[in-house]
Amino acid sequence: MLKQIDHIGVAVHDLDAAIPFYRDHLGMRFLGVEEVPGYLVRVAFFEIGDAKIELLEPMSQESFLTEFLQQNRQSLHHIAYQVDDVRLAIHQLETAGVKMLDKTPRQGAHGAQVAFIHPETGRGVLTELCQPDNHQ
Ligand code: ZN
Repeated sequence: MLKQIDHIGVAVHDLDAAIPFYRDHLGMRFLGVEEVPGYLVRVAFFEIGDAKIELLEPMSQESFLTEFLQQNRQSLHHIAYQVDDVRLAIHQLETAGVKMLDKTPRQGAHGAQVAFIHPETGRGVLTELCQPDNHQ
């Protein structure tokens, strides 16, 4: 069902302050900044091989990131795995008894359809399923 790691998400307080480390010091290719209204986050992507690093900054106090940042400060937030069909993946996981945070896909960055698995299931690691937009 899973094809590869699509990206690793890192929660940050300030996107603009975090970007230079990844772009200038680590030398990753910067793919730009995008707002993702469905999760109330602003994200920056960097390319590393076939995978990406995603920095996430909350756009408001209601963001799903706010509580995480308050509890954990800045740290690794989630691992995203690429799937061909996110609806099918959700169905298969729920059928197997896996608890989902998103029971239906939401619009992610770059037109991707994404869904998060409940972190309890991932032993504390928040897991994202990511179906890339093949038309981009
Ligand atoms: Zn992500």
